[in-house]
Order: sequence, then C-alpha cells, then structure tokens
Amino acid sequence: VASALEGARRKGARAAQHEYLRRAIPLDRRIDIFRIVQESGIWLMFQPLGGLFGAYQRLGEAAGIVLNTKHLPAVQRFTAAHEFGHHVLGHERSFDTEDEIEPGPGGSDSEDEAAAQAFAADFLMPLPLINRTLKDMGLALSPATLSADQVYQLSLDLGASYSATISRLVGLNKLSFNAAGDLRKQRPIAIKEERAGRRPDWTRAQVWLLNEKWQEGVLRPWVGDEIHVVLPGTPSSGYLWVLKEPERDALEPAGQGLIVLEKEAFEPTGQQEMFGAEGAQHLVFRVTKPGFQSLRLTKQRPWQADLAPLATFEAKVEAEAFPTGDSRRGLSEPQKELLLVS
Ligand SMILES: [Zn+2]
Repeated sequence: VASALEGARRKGARAAQHEYLRRAIPLDRRIDIFRIVQESGIWLMFQPLGGLFGAYQRLGEAAGIVLNTKHLPAVQRFTAAHEFGHHVLGHERSFDTEDEIEPGPGGSDSEDEAAAQAFAADFLMPLPLINRTLKDMGLALSPATLSADQVYQLSLDLGASYSATISRLVGLNKLSFNAAGDLRKQRPIAIKEERAGRRPDWTRAQVWLLNEKWQEGVLRPWVGDEIHVVLPGTPSSGYLWVLKEPERDALEPAGQGLIVLEKEAFEPTGQQEMFGAEGAQHLVFRVTKPGFQSLRLTKQRPWQADLAPLATFEAKVEAEAFPTGDSRRGLSEPQKELLLVS
C-alpha cells in the first residue's frame, strides 16, 4: 500500500511540473491559481461550505470547483490547487475536508487524494519559486533550520498557509522532521503578534514586516492585510524617516489611495524614554483596496528637505483583487460576465 501511495504522489508531482511547464507559467512570482483555474474553463465558485474545504466535479463537458468562503485566501488557494489537481489527473469528483487538504504527517491513504495533494504542493509551491524566494530573502537554498518568522514570510510570498509551507519544505528535504515539528508548535497568530508588536486588530489579517533588511521588491498583500514599516532612527540627530510616497492626503480613510496609514510612532530601544534614545520609527498601513502603490520614505532632516536624503527606503505594493470582487462569495467576476453573455 505504501508504495502505491508513493507512486500516486510521484504521479501528482509530475503532473504539476508538466502543467506549469506546458503553460509556461512564470516562476518568479507566486502562482495565480484562481486565474489558472478560470483560464482552464473551470467554473470557480465561493460558497459557505460548513466543514468542507472544497469540492471538484466534472459533469460531461463542464467542470467546477467550489471553495469555502470561511477560509483565508492562503487556504483557499491551496484547496483550489488540490481541486485543480483532481481535474488535471482526470478524476470525476471529490469532496474534500480537513483530512484531505490538511492531513496529518502520514497524509491521506487514498491514492487519488495523495496524488491531488502532491499536485497541489508542487503546483502552488514549485521548487524554482521556493529557491528564488529563499535567495531573495538572503537565505541558503537548503537552510536546515529556519525561524518561524522566516517560514511565515516565505508563506506570504508563496501565498500558502504557514503549515502547508512547512510540509512542502519537509517534502523537498529543506527542513528536517525535527525542525518542522518545532515550527508547527508555533501558532501563526503568535508570529503575527511578534511582528506587529501587538495582536492584529483583525486576526485574519496577514502581517507584512518591512525593516532595514528589506531588499527592494514587491509585496502582494490581500485587502485587509497590515504592512508594518519599522526603520531604525535617532531623532535627536534631527534625522527622521519622512513618508514621500504615497502623499499623506492619499492615506486618509476617505482618500483614494489603496493603503491607509493607521499608526505612526517612535519606539525607543529598551526602557529609556529619554530624548535622544535610539529606536525605530514604526508605521502601520492597512490595505483597503486592490491595486498598485509605491511606498517610499527618505531619511532626512525635515527642515533640509532640499538636500539629498541620508537614506531611502522603497517597496512596491501590489494588493491582490479577490476573484469575486467585494462580495467574497459567488462566481468569480469574469465568469459572472460569461454567464450574462451566454
Ligand atoms: Zn481531494
């Protein structure tokens, strides 16, 4: 039985590799699984499903995938990849609960489920994409150990859940079973709290942390996520991090920008609150709508605005649109239009 399951897993992984090569899917950014499902002519629905994570069904020429509105985008994305696996592997139908989508270390004992699960892991988190992301994070390609915060950041970049990312790293022999066991003991909410310095106001929000180690790049949050910019500074020197982009007017809740500035504070290092203390400027942004936004701060003396800044911090934000638009349920937007046409 074990070898039959192993064979099914290899078949699923091979099918995933074949699929992203055949479609020439770029592996330098996270996989847009919802778009891929739609472009394959599969109906994509979001519905409250109780204990069901997702379902796949083929009916003659038509095929459909239903995902649970209750779940976070990262879980929905993995479930979508799993259901898409059933489609690519030629299965007729599947109704998947936690046992199929987030099984224990042993995995499922059904060959079809093991194959779909291996497909999902390989298709959503292909090895070249993981290697590239590790490299961008300044980490070794076979790190042996990773901190919970590093795995969390990797999961944000891949668009997968924290636990699915750990399982994939173990599957690729990039993490040992022991290291994975320790990482699984850490709860994502605690990691988010550590990053934000407080519990996120909305516990479902992902927490993006940009500090002085951030290499210029793109972050791809969902609407509702928090972006924390934490940069070291010594206010007594007169140098401050000044927000240049977006302009402050655009950051009001009523403004047109896609991010809102929720908090800005100087946090001294250690206990000393005295003037001149070293510490960090901490800005908290909330993503309020999908779209593209540059984030730019310069370190300068505010009264010397015309001099070249001491340092510049830059990041690009590409906030993802949810497939169903604002409603968060029903058919994906492009497919609603298809229905109207036909
Ligand atoms: Zn399944």
